[in-house]
Amino acid sequence: RGIDLSGKLAIVTGGYSGIGLAATRALAAAGAHVVVPARRRAAAEEALKGLDGVEVDELDLGDLGSVRAFAGRFLATGRDAHLVITNAGIMACPETRVGPGWEAQFATNHLGHHALVNLLWPAVERGRGRVVALSSVGHRRSPIRWDDVMFERGYDKWAAYGQAKTANVLFAVHLDALARDAGVRAFAVHPGGILTPLQRHLAREEMVAQGWMDERGNVLHTFKTPEQGAATEVWAATSPLLDGMGGVYC
Ligand code: NDP
Repeated sequence: RGIDLSGKLAIVTGGYSGIGLAATRALAAAGAHVVVPARRRAAAEEALKGLDGVEVDELDLGDLGSVRAFAGRFLATGRDAHLVITNAGIMACPETRVGPGWEAQFATNHLGHHALVNLLWPAVERGRGRVVALSSVGHRRSPIRWDDVMFERGYDKWAAYGQAKTANVLFAVHLDALARDAGVRAFAVHPGGILTPLQRHLAREEMVAQGWMDERGNVLHTFKTPEQGAATEVWAATSPLLDGMGGVYC
């Protein structure tokens, strides 16, 4: 709230839907120039119509060639990147067996973003940027403590999603350690329960099994709004409170 991002450039993957769209709006309202690389360019242009300081490009995180091409186009402009929010994601459930859905989850939710940040590095380093990686409360279940031992617990049906999101936490924490001397910081954030188009990937039965929906399709769960999710992203991307913190995620 009240932040001034004039002169700053932000890149928000998937910044035209759900949480990413709310983040794009908040960053643009604070004066940042926002680059939104989109898998569906026309849809992005439609969703972002009328927003000042927002630029749409193309990116399919599941295709390394597309990631390279977008990074190349961006670097060719010679601009610095001050904020990179690796927001795009999919949640295919259940996709626990090797196959297209399983691969897409790892590629989109983790590997594509890892490659993207790596390829954008010269611009991020020049901008002394901040990278915010999207994890999820669904990256694992709450651990159980027994005596002095902590037992980690996972999800059966969300195993691939949870693993890719856990990889994002570790990506951010390690990147933060690796890049700190260059003035670059990285954080991971864990939104939870936000009703967005992401849930379209979930089967109705899964929504019912989670207690999020009744058999007739009525939403039962109290979801947060995309704006509340975006507030955490933007806070992690901009708050000076995090300047002195080490290896954290929030
Ligand atoms: P949405 O489905 O609303 O937005 C996801 C965005 O990612 C869309 O713009 C989508 O583009 C884009 N995307 C998907 N696949 C690709 C790809 N291969 N290449 C480029 N872009 C792609 O989801 P949310 O706003 O809910 O989710 C945003 C992030 O927050 C995700 O990483 C998600 O895992 C995470 N999250 C969400 C939670 C929730 O409850 N909603 C909870 C915890 C974490 P397109 O529309 O063209 O498919």
